[in-house]
Amino acid sequence: MLVVMKKGASPEQIAHVVERVQELGLTAIPLPGEERTAIGTFGVAAQDHADAVEALPGVERVVLVSRPFKLSSREVQPQDTLVRVGDVPIGGPDVAVMAGPCSVESREQTLGTARAVRDAGAVVLRGGAYKPSTSPYHFRGLGEPGLEILAEAKRATGLPVVTEVLAPADVERVALVADCLQIGARNMQNFALLDAVGETQSPVLLKRGLSATIEELLLAADYILARGNRNVMLCERGIRTFERYTRNTFDVNAIPLLKRLTHLPVVADPSHGTGKWYLVAPVALAAVAAGADALLIEVHPSPDHALKDGFQSLTFENFAALMRAAPAVAGAVNRRVASPAPVA
Ligand code: PEP
Ligand code: MN
Repeated sequence: MLVVMKKGASPEQIAHVVERVQELGLTAIPLPGEERTAIGTFGVAAQDHADAVEALPGVERVVLVSRPFKLSSREVQPQDTLVRVGDVPIGGPDVAVMAGPCSVESREQTLGTARAVRDAGAVVLRGGAYKPSTSPYHFRGLGEPGLEILAEAKRATGLPVVTEVLAPADVERVALVADCLQIGARNMQNFALLDAVGETQSPVLLKRGLSATIEELLLAADYILARGNRNVMLCERGIRTFERYTRNTFDVNAIPLLKRLTHLPVVADPSHGTGKWYLVAPVALAAVAAGADALLIEVHPSPDHALKDGFQSLTFENFAALMRAAPAVAGAVNRRVASPAPVA
């Protein structure tokens, strides 16, 4: 149930509605907007509840939300959410490209890649210091020193940084460097981690789980939104299917479907979505055509030598070629590719 307050409803009226909703056995979350406040509620709301709340002073109308996910739903918020990563808006008219290595491996590799992707037109730097790894015998990231390298790459290029956080205990530390916290596919339903990033105001890039449905992805987003962090972006990064020629099956359906179901920005990751470098550019362009608000692309100075995900990493040249191709596709669907801020 969503309670839409009248323009100019007083704080006392809002508090009274929250109190009444709670008395009805539901949880109430005020959602202050530019013009008016809405109050999202959790729990099974019936028409009787809606009627009771609609009669309260200061209430304009009450909407019963039919979807299982609520706060992420377009029924609750019809207009698009704009998430700012550093000073880069995501979810507006421009398509933002985020690029960088899968993992921070060294200072030289990360700074070199950051400069190359910025020069080619990327507006956000990606790179993992804490890496989720299916095998405990594989590279698991540099950890804290990796964060320091990311901070240096950010200073050197001016690019805001998206990097993964693996554990609730690390959220505060990672958020000191990260302009956006990535929740990886393997952690999409790590509810303690969702709660922890929900307690911050950092933008969050929430990746779809390996075998997660769209509904499960949106319910995971609701965990973060329910804690008061409204800066959530959803990322389609491929799902596990019977197909073995690709690492994952990139679900292009998810993009226009998510845009229809939710107001949150939608990011496409064709690197993990395909697992093959030669499929990344065509699938990236398909994602832009399908309405993605941003791309997340893995780039490495020497993919053959990458400690992780080399098979799906673009060389600097291949990334630059993708950036040259993207504007025409974006233009065909009335979007522009976001351009980097001029270097001061
Ligand atoms: C990554 O972005 O490098 C990553 C580990 O992604 P995912 O969680 O989608 O596998
Ligand atoms: Mn990766």
